[in-house]
Amino acid sequence: MAKVSLNQITREFGSVIAVSDITFEIPDGEFWVLVGPSGCGKSTILRMIAGLESITKGEIYIGNTLVNLIPPRQRDVAMVFQNYALYPHMTIAQNLSFGLRMRKVDPVTQNRRVESVARSLNIEHLLQRKPKQLSGGQQQRVALGRAMIREPKAFLLDEPLSNLDAQLRDETRAFLKQLHGQLGITTIYVTHDQVEAMTLADKIVILDEGKIQQIGTPQTIYHRPINRMVATFIGSPTMNILPAIYSQDNLSIQGQLITLSEFIKKQISFTESSRFEVGIRPENISLSSSFKEGQFLAIVEAIEPLGRDNLVRVVLPNSEIKLNLYTPFSWTGKLGDRLRIYWSLDHLFIFDSFTGKTLY
Ligand code: ATP
Repeated sequence: MAKVSLNQITREFGSVIAVSDITFEIPDGEFWVLVGPSGCGKSTILRMIAGLESITKGEIYIGNTLVNLIPPRQRDVAMVFQNYALYPHMTIAQNLSFGLRMRKVDPVTQNRRVESVARSLNIEHLLQRKPKQLSGGQQQRVALGRAMIREPKAFLLDEPLSNLDAQLRDETRAFLKQLHGQLGITTIYVTHDQVEAMTLADKIVILDEGKIQQIGTPQTIYHRPINRMVATFIGSPTMNILPAIYSQDNLSIQGQLITLSEFIKKQISFTESSRFEVGIRPENISLSSSFKEGQFLAIVEAIEPLGRDNLVRVVLPNSEIKLNLYTPFSWTGKLGDRLRIYWSLDHLFIFDSFTGKTLY
């Protein structure tokens, strides 16, 4: 096992800067997730760590070894891809032991390692089958097993669950987390799925356009997003963003005045008529039965029942927002209803409308 460090890493493809000035250090044994929208550079970072992509500028260390010029095979990391990449003509046992055979490990040790890995992945009963006789989830476990069997210094996983159906994805995700708990191998996991990032990561690295936006624990990223990009990328359904104007000690949102606390006024240097954007998560909006200061009148435009909750889309005078409402069985909301909604100032985010930086 080993820590993995990136120091001012840049990767250019001609005039495209795919990855720009990336620095972080993953401590030995931690599970880090690189997440961001398509094209943000996450796979390129993983491939540079694996040695499958060259580095334009900067240094990568695995443990204390500078690996920039070390070929992939000698980096002692194991990469798992979304398409499993199993050998179709070999049995599962042969697929698992392939790397050991190449390294001329003796057959007794090979068998012992295959059995031990198969046991921890719950695939002992599949060892004599061929890959096409396995389900997608089982094949993915074999791909993980093939990576584990070498006892690498680090696991590099590139969207390993994206070919699985929803239920298998949930199961395999939980399994991966449990496995990491048992093995404690430094893991770097790439995904565009923020639910995977939130549930698996010790730390999340949020990327956009080749640059790091924020590094933090899932809780920090959710509760203290550094900017609007992070705030809207993490959280499902997405955070609502509304324009706001500061006027006479209040924030005017959709023509509704919100009285600001002294604390917020200390945090932000407001000037008359300055413009902001405010953010409120769908799960932090409630219905009010009696009049409350700062409430809004909204008209129901769509209702999506989610079981316990309802995802309700409403229109305010100038925007549309989503509410994730926990509603009792007796709730009779329907399209066209007028709802009184409110949110607490504690749940409000205020962003600089130009830079997107979180001000509060
Ligand atoms: P996705 O989630 O869609 O896989 P990603 O975040 O993993 O995206 P990368 O595959 O790392 O993104 O690509 C980052 C940027 O670098 C993109 O703009 C991509 O078009 C560009 N890029 C990647 N590989 C090459 C290449 N071989 N030649 C030119 N441009 C490339």
